[in-house]
Amino acid sequence: MNFNYNFSNDNLDKDFQRIIEKFLSGLDISIQEGVVLFKARGKEQKILFNLANSLREKINGNKVSFVINRNINFTNVCHMGCSFCGFAKKIQDKNSEWLSFEEIVLRSKQAWNRGATEVCIQGGLHPKLPSNYYLELIKSIKKELPDIHIHAFSPFEIWYGAAKSKKSYYDFISELKEHGLGSMPGTAAEILDNKVRSVLTKNKLSAKEWIKIITTAHKVGLPSTATIMYGHVDKPIDWANHLDIIRNIQRKTNGFTEFVPLSFIYENSPLYLENKKLVRKGPTLDEVYNMHAVSRIMLSGYIENIQVSWTKLGPQVAQNTLDLGVNDFGGTLMNESISRAAGSKYGQEITSLEMVKIIRASGKIPIQRNTLYKTIKTYEDNDPNYIEPLVPRGSLDPIKFLNQKPNSSKLSSTH
Ligand code: SF4
Repeated sequence: MNFNYNFSNDNLDKDFQRIIEKFLSGLDISIQEGVVLFKARGKEQKILFNLANSLREKINGNKVSFVINRNINFTNVCHMGCSFCGFAKKIQDKNSEWLSFEEIVLRSKQAWNRGATEVCIQGGLHPKLPSNYYLELIKSIKKELPDIHIHAFSPFEIWYGAAKSKKSYYDFISELKEHGLGSMPGTAAEILDNKVRSVLTKNKLSAKEWIKIITTAHKVGLPSTATIMYGHVDKPIDWANHLDIIRNIQRKTNGFTEFVPLSFIYENSPLYLENKKLVRKGPTLDEVYNMHAVSRIMLSGYIENIQVSWTKLGPQVAQNTLDLGVNDFGGTLMNESISRAAGSKYGQEITSLEMVKIIRASGKIPIQRNTLYKTIKTYEDNDPNYIEPLVPRGSLDPIKFLNQKPNSSKLSSTH
């Protein structure tokens, strides 16, 4: 690894220095040590970023990946009442939506024709969802597009579908896999601590249940992502604890493909709007950067891919994270509803050409991958063809910042 630091040159925090030296000797970072790393600022923070960047380089080389995919949120109707959620609507709301299978298949075909290798499908827990809905959805897409990868259904949806169909998690997930489910998003993890979850989700899906569903999926042979949603009522100890839980699951199952930090978007979140004094406006920029760097370090040896969410952070801040541990820019998405419903101002889509430009401008080699991180195409000095965004993005231009110097959000410490 290309990390050489002479600790004797700087008057560093002794605890921080001990933790880094311990890590460099080959030992894992403990939960309490993770908290110290999350709080690093100034000289210590620079070392943290350098270490995370060196680990990225050692594990992923100079390549940064992205996947061409389409998000399909088949319904925004959900009566679970998670307090942070700005996406869910009630059946009677006039902007409630429930797509037909025909429409979902049509959207999948459009995506396939635009080069997508994956559809990412999630929806609210609609009270009228038939018990075989999830299975029939998979079947209807696979019938028309047998080669597309279906990345679908959060553990909350699996919990709901298994309960509705009165099946064990194992049987329910096995059946979905058998009919073409390729992997699962590890969303609905939020913070894997019941005290925090009782504020966010009324603890309807407990941390224990989330872990049980994810480990069952891995046991069935279905890989998943892992996520954290941070910057609301949580604290660094909750983040370190969460990473430790993810690490322990991976130690047992090796089923996680990547870790994706998701920053809390407060603007339309009832959690924030109803408790402005108690709930934060999402993480600070320092916290965003440290989250990606500490994830890289704490998950080193367990999860190879750290993905940034450009829908939450915007393309410019997302690009900055490529210098502190991140090796994956996520999906082109084509349609993004959940972050935008919560108040995110970033667009629906970053086309593959734009992905390539953003990644290359950070000095890395862009690669198009499939969902399971197999390289499809390397863009060393060639570009993908120009393609119009599926949905017009108005004045939002995701690569405008590349022509604006200097990069004002580069590792600064504002909100
Ligand atoms: S986060 Fe998901 S489960 Fe919770 S209310 Fe929103 S859509 Fe429903």
